[in-house]
Amino acid sequence: MKQFKAESKRLLDLMINSIYTHREIFLRELISNASDAIDKLYYQTLSVGDTGLSRDDFAIEIIPDKEARTLTIVDNGCGMTKEELENNLGTIAKSGSLNFKQENEQKEDIEIIGQFGVGFYSAFMVSDKVVVESRSYGGDEAYRWMSKGVEGYTIESCEKEGHGTTITLFIKPNADDNNYDEFLDAYTIKRLVKKYSDYIRYPIKMDVEKSRMKEGSGEDGKEPEYETYTETETLNSMVPIWRKNRKEVTDEEYNQFYKDKFFDFQDPLKVIYSSTEGTATYNALLFIPAKAPYDFYTKEYEKGLQLYSNGVMIMEKCKDLLPDYFSFVKGLVDSQDLSLNISREMLQHDRQLKIIAGRLEKKIKSELESMLLGERDKYEEFYKNFGLQLKYGIYADYGMHKDVLQDLLLFYSSSEKKMVTLKEYVERMKEGQKYIYYACGETVDRIDLLPQSEALKDKGFEILYMTDNVDEFALRMMVKYDDKEFKSVSADDLGLESDEEKEETKKLAEENKELLDQMKEALGDKVKGVVLSRKLKSHPVCLSTEGAISMEMEKVLNAMPA
Ligand code: ADP
Ligand code: MG
Repeated sequence: MKQFKAESKRLLDLMINSIYTHREIFLRELISNASDAIDKLYYQTLSVGDTGLSRDDFAIEIIPDKEARTLTIVDNGCGMTKEELENNLGTIAKSGSLNFKQENEQKEDIEIIGQFGVGFYSAFMVSDKVVVESRSYGGDEAYRWMSKGVEGYTIESCEKEGHGTTITLFIKPNADDNNYDEFLDAYTIKRLVKKYSDYIRYPIKMDVEKSRMKEGSGEDGKEPEYETYTETETLNSMVPIWRKNRKEVTDEEYNQFYKDKFFDFQDPLKVIYSSTEGTATYNALLFIPAKAPYDFYTKEYEKGLQLYSNGVMIMEKCKDLLPDYFSFVKGLVDSQDLSLNISREMLQHDRQLKIIAGRLEKKIKSELESMLLGERDKYEEFYKNFGLQLKYGIYADYGMHKDVLQDLLLFYSSSEKKMVTLKEYVERMKEGQKYIYYACGETVDRIDLLPQSEALKDKGFEILYMTDNVDEFALRMMVKYDDKEFKSVSADDLGLESDEEKEETKKLAEENKELLDQMKEALGDKVKGVVLSRKLKSHPVCLSTEGAISMEMEKVLNAMPA
């Protein structure tokens, strides 16, 4: 059999230019590699012992140099021998890390990130030339690997103190609208580390230039004088807040985390934690915002949770983790069990993801339910902001989600004069009451004045007020709640009349046929017909519609673009 030959130049070119959508991820990839290299050595320390190294000795260092246009990433991990440089960096899609992971599979506490053997090459998206100097742990010699991309690479001996790897990127010059300078800028580097690598378990350090007022200056009317100094900063937070013991994290810390991460200035209404071990191991930290974001009910709003795999952010808004009706939830999920695609920007259509999404949905629902039961005021606050979304959820997908959502709904009640649930309504229903009555209108006050509801209220029936356009659509979609049908107060038959009464009305209508006909004639096209009704009390007349569509629904339908 013949072997396939890869045209490696073309392959590398493809790699470099088409796998990733954001070239800024090169830093994520190189930091991940550094973290893997340290993990491997640390792991060796644990298993073989007597390396004399402790966890605190390990660090990753980033050194930008604007003048030389270089960005250097240093780690003191396991390093690479000459062969390893050759194999791992000279062969596309060869992952030393994957091998390591497979060899040590049964062992716990390894969180190796690499697996595809392509991340390293992302360095060429921003560099003309990459130099890797490495000395393997325990090795006597160091080697320098050098490449300008597609043309190939060279390896030679070099001087290097201590084990580990130093990678120097020669950053491309700016061209047209491509700004590469930013990758030499301390601020950008900090931002990228925060964004993608905040939870790498080893410190990522950088010397940062700072300015301070000179001692003594600025006092007693003297001019303030400033001096610059360098300080080594650790850029990442290392331990993710969601992996910390919950007892060790204060509410204030969770709130601050939410505000920083999701750009809100208000504390969240609710913090939700969820984690499991087993079929899909994950940690999730979710938040319900206090207020709907300004664009929440627009097309611009994008739902989704941040997705982390082994502490590395791979997706900023993973839509598949949230159903539309819970789109207001913010937060993140961290899981080791995801099958990533090669760019680690996307997931393979994922069974794990489905399982996680299912669990999160249940969790969110149960948290909302317990808020409804235990913290009613808070729930009503929540409902003011996001209730509409729940009602859309009932209406969407042909009512498929009504079981999830129906007990989370609130409507204004004519008798309680406050928001009530359908369950509460049903529990209070009068003996023999067949239907759940509702009335539609623009505001509670207007519905209060409806002639149709007067008689019902008078007889002591509770009416739910529908003031949002979507309300009645949602009810129609549900048809019933707890086996009780919904009935509009404008319906012809409210189920309150006995057969005799109906008979009587019919007789009356016949006797007064002439009067009714004359009324219809006088009103002309404005109405379809004039009939007698028993629904009214003090009002002589009311408007009503025929068939399934109510007046309010008609209004909505007419207002919709054709
Ligand atoms: P992956 O990380 O998916 O394995 P990469 O292309 O990022 O693929 O890296 C290829 C291989 O090169 C890694 O698996 C690892 O064996 C080796 N490697 C890369 N960077 C380093 C480093 N800083 N220290 C030691 N080995 C490294
Ligand atoms: Mg990698």
